[in-house]
Amino acid sequence: MGREPLETALESPVLQSAFSRPLLDWYAANRRKLPWRDGKDPYAVFVSEVMLQQTQVRAVLPYYARWMRRFPTVEALARASEEEVLKEWEGLGYYRRARLLHAAARMVASEFGGRFPSDPEEIASLPGVGPYTLAAVASIAFGKALAAVDGNVIRVVTRWFGIRGVPSRRPARPKILEAVQRLLPSEAPGDFNQAVMELGATVCLPRRPCCLLCPIRKGCVASTKGIQSELPEAAPSKAAVRQFEYAGLVMREGKVLLCRRGDGGRMERLWQFPSVILAKESKRWTGRWKARYGEMKGAELLAVLNYSVTHYRIRLEIYRIEGFQRYKLPSARWTPIAEAPKLAFTAAHRKLADRFLVLT
Ligand code: SF4
Repeated sequence: MGREPLETALESPVLQSAFSRPLLDWYAANRRKLPWRDGKDPYAVFVSEVMLQQTQVRAVLPYYARWMRRFPTVEALARASEEEVLKEWEGLGYYRRARLLHAAARMVASEFGGRFPSDPEEIASLPGVGPYTLAAVASIAFGKALAAVDGNVIRVVTRWFGIRGVPSRRPARPKILEAVQRLLPSEAPGDFNQAVMELGATVCLPRRPCCLLCPIRKGCVASTKGIQSELPEAAPSKAAVRQFEYAGLVMREGKVLLCRRGDGGRMERLWQFPSVILAKESKRWTGRWKARYGEMKGAELLAVLNYSVTHYRIRLEIYRIEGFQRYKLPSARWTPIAEAPKLAFTAAHRKLADRFLVLT
């Protein structure tokens, strides 16, 4: 099938109905039953949308259930301490999301009398609410005609229209945004947004799209031309960077030395064992460690763990530190070992804590 230029094609009601109507019919019959779809509580939608950023539905489900039991309302979340919030989020990754969710709940409590705002400008004023979250919450909970564009939507739309170029950059980005906004039916924007995301998550899959099951196959440029695997185009990936982390298990009188990461940077304000990171593997790590934390007499290797954070590939060695002298770092703290499980750790250090603090 030939295709008009995008600008002309989008004006065509025939083309819109080839996409939006069959998609909405398919969604009504095939949508997955997910707990945040039970009602239109804006707080529940907000929590689910923030959790689903960069995280698969299957991974989110148990966290969402636990979170809503612990903080069932926006006011309950606003009243919680940061430590409680981070603890509930522990393991879900990208902890900045938890802090922003918490800050948004506090703002709803203080500025909007505990009632989640319905006006898009007010929703946009909440901490951590970008264009995607705004559109998702405003359309699903309040029926506002705003297009929510996430990775699933980008995949469906670039394939269906045959849009070339890296989706996060010009000229592809504005084309995608315009396409989705124009396809959005004003009578069911929330269902439409969820339908496109659902199609991307269950049918128009990244590697093997199930085109034969697709309700909008007729008219899809990628399917017609057999170029599904070429779209969306990928941005050049960052080269992997190797790092070497050396952590110390320092204990005395039923307490363990732990440090809290600072503000900014990755995994901010989470707990971990005192450690140093070097660009090269080196036996001289002890010099850096002593300079940062305090004098020690010896170090015995306990375990090695390999993990990745974004494009960093990290080899982590943990040592039992002997003869440690008082700590220097203000963020370090002697913590009763029994209290360590209540703290929110980075994922790698949580594995170490589970292994070495439980056994002691
Ligand atoms: S026909 Fe295939 S490539 Fe096109 S939108 Fe459907 S699943 Fe995706």
